[in-house]
Amino acid sequence: MGKYDGFLKHDRELPNSRPPEVRIGDFKEIFEPFPEEKTKTQAARCMDCGVPFCHSGCPLGNIIPEFNEAVHDENWKDAASILYSTNNFPEFTGRICPAPCEASCVLGINKPPVAIEHIEKSIAEKAHELGYIKATPPKQRTGKKVAVIGSGPAGLAAADQLNQAGHWVTVYERDPAIGGLLRYGIPDFKLEKWVVDRRIQIMDEEGVRFKVNAEVGKSINPDMLKDDFDSIVVCTGSTVPRNLPIPGRALKGIHYAMDFLSLQNKELAGIKFEDKISAEGKNVVVIGGGDTGSDCIGTSHRQGAASVLQLELMPKPQSKRGENDPWPMWPMTLRTSSSHEEGGERKWSTLTKAFIGNDKDELTHIKLVDLEWVSEGGRQQMKEIEGTERLIPCELALLAIGFTQPESSLLEHLGVSQTQSGIIDSTDYSTSVKSIFAAGDARRGQSLVVWAISEGREAAREVDKFLMGSTELPSKNDSF
Ligand code: FAD
Repeated sequence: MGKYDGFLKHDRELPNSRPPEVRIGDFKEIFEPFPEEKTKTQAARCMDCGVPFCHSGCPLGNIIPEFNEAVHDENWKDAASILYSTNNFPEFTGRICPAPCEASCVLGINKPPVAIEHIEKSIAEKAHELGYIKATPPKQRTGKKVAVIGSGPAGLAAADQLNQAGHWVTVYERDPAIGGLLRYGIPDFKLEKWVVDRRIQIMDEEGVRFKVNAEVGKSINPDMLKDDFDSIVVCTGSTVPRNLPIPGRALKGIHYAMDFLSLQNKELAGIKFEDKISAEGKNVVVIGGGDTGSDCIGTSHRQGAASVLQLELMPKPQSKRGENDPWPMWPMTLRTSSSHEEGGERKWSTLTKAFIGNDKDELTHIKLVDLEWVSEGGRQQMKEIEGTERLIPCELALLAIGFTQPESSLLEHLGVSQTQSGIIDSTDYSTSVKSIFAAGDARRGQSLVVWAISEGREAAREVDKFLMGSTELPSKNDSF
């Protein structure tokens, strides 16, 4: 690295985000431009450790010190080639990854870690701008055909790798556009959809075939796929939402977070539908403290909610570095997202006991109680605090308490076994059916985009081995 003492000279610096009161007026990404010179300086903070824990902290095994060095040297071509050698879609992860690599950065022990996620996004965007990322169809075709079911990051990564290995790949997606949760889950203020479109366009030019409005098990017969393709990769996500079956659940005004978010994303995409779930003028309560909950908060602000309250059952995590720690110490953290900066209130250790409605069966209030967490028999148990039960006004409640498993009907039709918890029973990405493989949230349970890409890449290797007897596709384990 050109400047070995960069971490002593420079502080961590990230692009500014647009002021909250401005950005809630639109759904555009929140960051302002950042001068290239500053990105180079940020790359110089990398200590190029002997044992780069960032590298193993990344589910893709991204070779981080090497691309930092190339950025510092202004060698964007090498930086891109290093980054894309382990990650098919850094333009996605550079925007929305919670960056486990940064949590593993050795500099992070006593200083804010290297801004790896920002550097990754900068490399990806610079590589596109300079024309380094263009369609490169495989030189030879194997004649083998693979069907990928589901077009989220796992399905796209599997399709990209298998296509590069020379197989003919067709991706089946039941939604009207490709991208899975990148398209209809994650809001535009985190990931604008032109970024997804740009990637799909390249994959299309490289020979991947995309079929939308194609639900396998409904409009597409799974037996046809079994007959027509040499292998199938199931990447259908973890789509069954966790319910909150408490009194009043059937009232009007209580929705799953994904129903709310996907309608907003569809509206922005110009898709017409009836019965939008709108937060406008309403007291919104988001139940659940994770990423999905944060996305509901940001979307509610932008739709003009009267108030937004987020409830979390668990106690407020304590930061090692105090209340005002700007650094999200993933995973057990005081994680604040950009949506939290935009307003609203957040409560921990709070139990939702009932939904209350009027005589038209419309939600009007939520009954809450505060909790204390006590250690009993080595386990944390929740106890209601007497006298804290209360009603708060609420006309829109959004359930963002996670997803339990993939939908079973397709798996049953394909004969693919599920574990007791409902995810696909799969070792090494294979399933109970010889020619069928699995990747992403459907196999691993609800997770992250970076894990979905990693799973798609690893599954592609297994499919390639199954089809050809051996594989030259890379694995994250190669680089350790
Ligand atoms: P998905 O992205 O869920 O894609 C599965 C696809 O399969 C869907 O398009 C679905 O329509 C399709 N499908 C299902 N059944 C069929 C069928 N029978 N026929 C055809 N198609 C079918 N992770 C992060 O890293 N950062 C974030 O900021 C982040 N934010 C999130 C916000 C929300 C609201 C949610 C819900 C998740 C978020 N995640 C985030 C998690 C991340 O999006 C997922 O882990 C990731 O998308 C999983 O990828 P996947 O390809 O396995 O599944």
